Amino acid sequence: MEFSNRCSRRCAYCGLNAHRKDLRRYRMTHEEILAATRLAVRLGYGTVVLQSGEDEGATRDGLGELVRSIKAETPLAVTLSVGECSEADLAAWKQAGADRYLLRFETSDRNLYDRLHPPRRPGERSDRLGLLGTLRKLGYETGSGVLVGLPGQTFESLAEDLQRFAELDLDMIGCGPFIPHPGTALGGEQTTPTPDGQVPATELMGYKVIALARLLCPDANIPSTTALSTLNRTAGRERGLARGANVVMPNLTPARYRNLYEIYPGKPTADVDLHDQDARLRAQIAALGRSVGTGPGASPAYRQRTAAVPTAQGA
Ligand code: SAH
Repeated sequence: MEFSNRCSRRCAYCGLNAHRKDLRRYRMTHEEILAATRLAVRLGYGTVVLQSGEDEGATRDGLGELVRSIKAETPLAVTLSVGECSEADLAAWKQAGADRYLLRFETSDRNLYDRLHPPRRPGERSDRLGLLGTLRKLGYETGSGVLVGLPGQTFESLAEDLQRFAELDLDMIGCGPFIPHPGTALGGEQTTPTPDGQVPATELMGYKVIALARLLCPDANIPSTTALSTLNRTAGRERGLARGANVVMPNLTPARYRNLYEIYPGKPTADVDLHDQDARLRAQIAALGRSVGTGPGASPAYRQRTAAVPTAQGA
C-alpha cells in the first residue's frame, strides 16, 4: 500500500522527488489505511507493506499509532518502507509491532549513489548500508535491493551489489529495472549497453539479477517486482516468478491515489476492483503450477536465524 507520495528527498531517479511541483501530493488517513488492511485480511493475505516517500508528516508517533492499530485489529505482519529514518524512529515502530523493513541500497557504487541520491539536508550523509545493520540489530526482518540499469552503473558494480546481498544475509531482496521518469533529472536517459560496461535497464537484465540473487540467497524472499510488470504487462510477473522470485505484491492502494504514486511512468493501471485483481493474480500463479502460501510468510532466512535452540534433528 502506497500510503503517501509526499517526499522531502531529491533522488534523481524517482518521480516522487521534492523537485516535482506538478505532482499532486496525498497522504492516506489512518482510517483509509486500516480499511485497506481489513481488505487484505479478507483477501487472505498474511502481510501488508506500507510504503511512502520520505514524508516528514508521517511522524514517529503517527506511524507508531498506525502500526499499533493494524497489529491490534488484524493478524497481519507489517512491513514498513518509508526511507531513511533515525534509529529512534525505527526502534519506536519496532516497539509498536512493525515486523519488517524494506530499504534498498540502490547501488553499492558510492560515487554513483551520491550523485543520484543527495542528502536531505546539506552536510548529512546518506548511509543505507549502515541503516540495514541498525534494522537488523533492532530485530526487523530486513529487505534491500538495487535498481538495475541506472545510468552509470557498471556490470562490475552490479556484481558487487549481488555479493552484498549475500554478505548482508538479507531476508528480502527487491530488484527491478530502472525506468526513466520524464519529470526527473534522469528522465531523458536511455540506458543501452556500451563498451564501457553500462548495465542495460532491460526486462532481461531484471530477470538475470533476480536469478542470480536467488542462487546467492536461496533462503530470501524475492518479489517479482512491479517494474518487471511495467516493462512487460502480460508476462513480466510470471517470468519473474519463473526465474527465482517467490513473492508477489498486489497493490492495495485505493484507486483514487494510485496514479499519484508515480515513482516511474507506465505502472500497470489500477484494477479498480481489488477482488478481480486478486482473482487474476491467483489464476496466474496456479497456471505456473505454483500455489499461494498463507500466513505472514517470514523468509526461511529469518526463521532459521530466530528459531529456538534446534532439536537433535535440527528442526
Ligand atoms: N521512499 C522509500 C520508498 C521508495 S520507492 C525509500 O526511499 O526507500 C521504492 C523503490 O522504488 C526505491 O527504493 C527504488 O529502488 C525504486 N525506484 C525509484 N525510482 C525508480 C525508477 N525510476 N525506476 C524503477 N524503480 C524505481
